[in-house]
Amino acid sequence: MERIAAQLREVRGRIARACAAVKRPVESVTLLAVGKTFPASALRAAFDAGQCAFGENYVQEALAKIDALADLRTQIEWHLIGPLQSNKTREVAAAFDWVHTIDRPKVAERLAARRPAGMAPLEVCLQVNVSGEASKSGVAPAEVLPLALAVAALPGLRLRGLMAIPEPAGDYESQRRPHRALRELLESLRRADPRLAGLDTLSMGMSADLEAAIAEGATIVRVGAAIFGAR
Ligand SMILES: *Cc1c(COP(=O)(O)O)cnc(C)c1O
Repeated sequence: MERIAAQLREVRGRIARACAAVKRPVESVTLLAVGKTFPASALRAAFDAGQCAFGENYVQEALAKIDALADLRTQIEWHLIGPLQSNKTREVAAAFDWVHTIDRPKVAERLAARRPAGMAPLEVCLQVNVSGEASKSGVAPAEVLPLALAVAALPGLRLRGLMAIPEPAGDYESQRRPHRALRELLESLRRADPRLAGLDTLSMGMSADLEAAIAEGATIVRVGAAIFGAR
């Protein structure tokens, strides 16, 4: 558990240096600790070391951890960053603060309809397939604008921006390219329609490429292995 605190400090240091290198305020980047496959006790250790935003990939695994950490519920922000089937939308709408992986209208409509009335709107991002492989989920860049307009019109949701999981790339310049494409897409949405002018979130960058993502404007970096260890 000491190790988790130490690795968190290390990751926060990387974020601070990456921000300094491109003259961004360090507060402009939120660190999401990605806990998939790690137990609730590991997340609690991260919380005790000052970490408040957690990302999870698998709905059932996440619900068990949200339950195990229920005593911290008001202090933790829970983000779903994995694929979402429409038959899980009721549980997700009731349990999470953010969903990063909206890639079709049906899932957004169901989340909107099922967000409990007393809760704040669910914060959502559209997942974009920036690398273009057939196997990856996410909406194609050319289809982002109509989806964004549809999602922005739904009650119970607040569209915040875009998310991507680019193909791993070895060198810094190749890592920057897909992140740049996502930033340019967000900028084009903001210009395209006044209803999208307030979009403020770029969820991109993981353990291996967070510096490249921050250089291209990431506002949320999702980091698992560098905090919790190899899976
Ligand atoms: C697992 C995962 C991460 C974290 O990846 P690491 O390489 O462990 O930092 C980030 N985003 C998504 C969508 C993931 O599935």
